[in-house]
Amino acid sequence: MAEPAGGLSLADRFTVPTIHWHALPDGRIQCDVCPRACRLREGQRGLCFVRGRVDDQIVLASYGRSSGFCVDPIEKKPLNHFLPGSSVLSFGTAGCNLACRFCQNWDISKSRQIDTLSSAAAPETLAAAAERLGCRSVAFTYNDPVIFLEYATDVADACRERGIRAVAVSAGYVNPKARTELFGHMDAANIDLKGFTDDFYQKITFARLGAVQETLSYLRHETEVWLEITTLLIPGHNDSDAELAAECGWLVEALGPDVPLHFSAFHPDYKLRDVPPTPPATLRRARRIALEHGLRHVYTGNVHDPAGQTTYCPGCGAAVVVRDWYQIRRYDLTDRGACGRCGAPVPGVYEGPVGGWGARRLPVRLADPVGPGRSGHDRRPAPV
Ligand code: SF4
Repeated sequence: MAEPAGGLSLADRFTVPTIHWHALPDGRIQCDVCPRACRLREGQRGLCFVRGRVDDQIVLASYGRSSGFCVDPIEKKPLNHFLPGSSVLSFGTAGCNLACRFCQNWDISKSRQIDTLSSAAAPETLAAAAERLGCRSVAFTYNDPVIFLEYATDVADACRERGIRAVAVSAGYVNPKARTELFGHMDAANIDLKGFTDDFYQKITFARLGAVQETLSYLRHETEVWLEITTLLIPGHNDSDAELAAECGWLVEALGPDVPLHFSAFHPDYKLRDVPPTPPATLRRARRIALEHGLRHVYTGNVHDPAGQTTYCPGCGAAVVVRDWYQIRRYDLTDRGACGRCGAPVPGVYEGPVGGWGARRLPVRLADPVGPGRSGHDRRPAPV
């Protein structure tokens, strides 16, 4: 699949060469980052819009530019078992490699105006800002880091040098080699599992369920990346008892009972404006089904549901982290994540006392006096 030519040029300071592609016998070049396998002629862009062909290679046209920055609670990603209570510097670029009809972020993911939307941020600038703002992590979150993996991995490396973690919020629709590269630089991931039938994936997201299942299994069994999963429940499309039972059954069998699962509420948007918002009762029903199937940490989001926002000890059943939306009201875990009552470990990443960021959301503007192209992480050719 290819978009028309769109002003791609390696002379642009935000455009960098990439390596995940190969030439085809018919003269086209295939991008190998994701299963879309866009086959491009000179000047064409892929479905994600930020990768395209120029000078007989595939380039990334959004290296070092962002659609905005915000400091959020880590619970908003959502990650409930990763440095609880800490703040995360969230950002994204533009474009997406899925085409979800229900996209809740379509102004960014479907943007074709990256020049006007974006602000510049070299990896070191971002890492320094995260440190200055007291964030324990950065999150690639407003759109999928799969499509800007060269930028995401360089930001992650710059952050790690300062002791700051990297979080990928992704649909997990990525080919094995690119997947290994991307997640090799990440400390945590929240993967959207958008439904659990091939029909839903093909008709509503224009992707394939099997590729996402492979990513989930890979992350759980072949990496140290902390994994949580989110399913957005869309009334009448992916919220039947049977589909939820199939999803939860597979998760327990393939990934084990300790992977946290978040059910979140849909609101009418983009091309699914005729579908009503998800009723809170649907989220609670989904959570009940997941618990019945043996998942131990199941959450409901975007709704007032104290039980669905609490972490329970897998040993004694005590409420060890009580939340009200993104605010932690009570915290009874040790610095290493053991239950304060019985000592059983609660799965996750815990380092020291709970953070105190609270529910605040703080938009920030980054000054980038250097700009991409002059840092140790720069992939661009030297200026001539
Ligand atoms: S990353 Fe973009 S260009 Fe590459 S295959 Fe996927 S959609 Fe196509």
